[in-house]
Amino acid sequence: MERVVIVGASLAGVTAGEALRQEGFEGPITLVGDEAEAPYDRPPLSKQLLTGEWDVDRLALRSEDELGKLDLELLRGRTAAALDVAGRVLRMDDGLEIEFDGLIIATGARPLALPFGHDLEGVHTLRSQADALQIRSALERGSRVVVIGAGFIGAEVASSARTRGLEVTMVEALAAPMIGPLGEELAGWALELHAQAGVQMRFDARVSDMIGSDRVEAVKLDDGSIVEADTVVVGIGVRPNVEWLEGSGLTVGDGVICDQYCRAAPMIYAAGDVARWPNELFMHFRYGEPQRTMRIEHWTNAVEQGMAAARNLLLERRGEPLEAFAPAPYFWSDQHGLSIMASGITSPRDEFRLVHGTLESNRFAAIYGLRGYLTGVVAVGWPRMLRRYQGLIREQVSWDEALETAREIEG
Ligand SMILES: Cc1cc2nc3c(=O)[nH]c(=O)nc-3n(C[C@H](O)[C@H](O)[C@H](O)COP(=O)(O)OP(=O)(O)OC[C@H]3O[C@@H](n4cnc5c(N)ncnc54)[C@H](O)[C@@H]3O)c2cc1C
Repeated sequence: MERVVIVGASLAGVTAGEALRQEGFEGPITLVGDEAEAPYDRPPLSKQLLTGEWDVDRLALRSEDELGKLDLELLRGRTAAALDVAGRVLRMDDGLEIEFDGLIIATGARPLALPFGHDLEGVHTLRSQADALQIRSALERGSRVVVIGAGFIGAEVASSARTRGLEVTMVEALAAPMIGPLGEELAGWALELHAQAGVQMRFDARVSDMIGSDRVEAVKLDDGSIVEADTVVVGIGVRPNVEWLEGSGLTVGDGVICDQYCRAAPMIYAAGDVARWPNELFMHFRYGEPQRTMRIEHWTNAVEQGMAAARNLLLERRGEPLEAFAPAPYFWSDQHGLSIMASGITSPRDEFRLVHGTLESNRFAAIYGLRGYLTGVVAVGWPRMLRRYQGLIREQVSWDEALETAREIEG
């Protein structure tokens, strides 16, 4: 019976393993992951784990029993070092070679680092359970926290640290938090949200250095000002884990480059934060040319793409037509007691409209358009509206049709 190997034993990888079994694959599955822990969930790392609401025992992606039932060979704490596509062999860094017939790459992403400061104690990035535990114990000691980067991770860390009553400063090179994904109008709202929660903010500010001999003592900004800190969390984005695939014959760049079926090569697929693929849902209005690809760094996509990759691998094995993976991507972020939900493409955008609710009430829905089509929605405190417009994005409606729907709803 053929062997399927999955590299990356986290959300996309575990989901892919489950989907293979659900779709009836009975052959051996090897799931390889370089983390020592049993597969765990990442979203709580910046939220409930940092606030102290949850402990690590709540993070497990699946129970031991559930994993056992999948009948996988789980190789934990083991790193894939190279791939031989032609020879169908995965090489581990300890020399072990694993032959495969089908392969799913789900190696995710890791945080970007600043070119300085990371050798100082008290300077962190946040991706793993171990990172989160270190940050949590720093927060428990009651430190002054500086968060560098006001993207979703930075904003959530700032929120969690404020929940603990700590002094928090957010430093961001742009003019407001989450300005890229939300646009200026909602970034202004987010700025207000953080300000009201007592987060100090330094926008249009770049960190030029970190000060301290062994431990970090302060962060230096490019205008010469100094922000004192005991704990610094750097949240300036991530980079997909593709280096181990260099020389494999697969096309890699900012992700593993796949076709619309999540296929990187015959019987080799990619899923989750590491995968870059052309999403056909957004091809009708020639979103980018010739074929604009996406790489999504969100939970729901890792689940859906893990399932899609597994399913297409089995379809290919049976010689049946593959199914394009064409979702309206969804994510949420929890900050200061509110859940920000978004779907589709919110950047780049030609159009923005607040269609329901008000920013002041922290309950609203806003839509985004590009080239005459509805492409994205952001909703706060209103999941029903999120789903409504997500449905319209799936239907590929025009911007005018979306506005018409908004008028009807407002009635
Ligand atoms: C702190 C935090 C909070 C988040 N909050 C949210 C949220 O609120 N909402 C949301 O939508 N999304 C959130 N996300 C994003 C979401 O968790 C990710 O999109 C998701 O984890 C991606 O899953 P993945 O399986 O593709 O990658 P990962 O979870 O990164 O898993 C990849 C796995 O592969 C392993 N690996 C890498 N290279 C190798 C190798 N060579 N050999 C073996 N193993 C390897 C990695 O160590 C890792 O275990 C958050 C992420 C973080 C870090």
